[in-house]
Amino acid sequence: MADDPFENMLAQMDRAEEYADVDHGVFERLKHPERTLKVTLPVELESGEVEVFEGYRCQFDSARGPFKGGVRFHPTVTQREVEALAGWMTWKTALVDLPYGGAKGGVICEPKDLTERDLERLTRRYTEGIRRMIGPEIDVPAPDMNTNPQTMAWMMDTYSMYEGYSVPQVVTGKPLEIGGTPGRVEATGRGVSLVTERLFEYLDRDLSDTTIAIQGFGNVGSNAARLLDEGGANVVATSDVSGAAYDPNGLDVAALGAHVDAGGLVEEYVAGEIRGGASTADSRWDDPDQITNAELLTLDVDVLIPAAVEGVITADNVDDLRASAVVEAANGPTTVAADKALTERDIQVVPDILANAGGVIVSYLEWVQNAQEFSWPLETVNAELERRIGSAFDKTVEQYDTKELPDLRTAAYTLALERTAKAHEYRGLFP
Ligand code: GLU
Repeated sequence: MADDPFENMLAQMDRAEEYADVDHGVFERLKHPERTLKVTLPVELESGEVEVFEGYRCQFDSARGPFKGGVRFHPTVTQREVEALAGWMTWKTALVDLPYGGAKGGVICEPKDLTERDLERLTRRYTEGIRRMIGPEIDVPAPDMNTNPQTMAWMMDTYSMYEGYSVPQVVTGKPLEIGGTPGRVEATGRGVSLVTERLFEYLDRDLSDTTIAIQGFGNVGSNAARLLDEGGANVVATSDVSGAAYDPNGLDVAALGAHVDAGGLVEEYVAGEIRGGASTADSRWDDPDQITNAELLTLDVDVLIPAAVEGVITADNVDDLRASAVVEAANGPTTVAADKALTERDIQVVPDILANAGGVIVSYLEWVQNAQEFSWPLETVNAELERRIGSAFDKTVEQYDTKELPDLRTAAYTLALERTAKAHEYRGLFP
């Protein structure tokens, strides 16, 4: 099934194989995760009821270093999805040249229906469930969809209680007070904004004349929107589960950000029920229109940034897309059938493993600081993020141009697969 995320990841690998300098035997090996643990998580909720949740941790490949990847809490989590996401982490860490392999975790739950205490208990129970397979040198979780610095603090505490001493390095994306790094929360959004700027430099186009639609206004989408807006681009549409806001003249990103930070929905913002101290009266812009998430994807804009879930650009809507470039802030937003259509239509796609790598790059910087027991200022973190994601972008376009590859995703995959395969070849097969 083309919309299965794992099949999608395998098909992306297959598309790149013909151009990658990788032994076929090693390539076949790279299609299988090393292991996946499934855990049953009974939790006594604040209501007094016991609910049994299910969670996973997939460790996809460790040839290049310890496993690395986030943990998501979402009702649609499946084992296959977690395995696909762990594969994407493997190609992402290889592409941006971090000394890591790839992993991912997930718990099937609807966080909106859980209290803070329920979430804490669920997180602690999940951490206990996977604690034998994680560790600072083994596998280092981080935030993903619906998880955040508080979730990481609970994971770090649970792991540390069993060890008998504090182990900040077991997770990244922690609050600053317990070993987090400045710049981690906005890192993925900052990376998205940096690669969008690079893409425009590469295309010889000016970002200040550009209209951008961003699907999703969570941690990644909102930070990307804010930074692109500050960089002079014109963010004309964004969305959340309640729907999308669209103003062809540009949205007041700061006011919308304050509203969402205060717990508001995009739909309420459009209706003028604005939280967070901003009001339509003092907003610089006109009232936006309410459109659907599906309509946002086909707006006539320069750049489309899917920053929500997988599989949103599909064979069904790809012909209606009007953007001239797509920057994949979400993991796996484009199905393989849609990807081929975008390549044929010459729509440049900055692939997820490059576009959203800012998060794991700054996770690595956090992990390094924890190992050094030394903390860096924000400027150092941001400069290092820019250097690393910029260099990965440059290497990807160089590969694309010199090898005349069909698209940037194929270029990114050939680099990632070759690097991971080389590590396998040097290490050899055990025993
Ligand atoms: N969840 C993020 C991603 O998909 C970050 C992972 C990490 O920092 O380890 O890249």
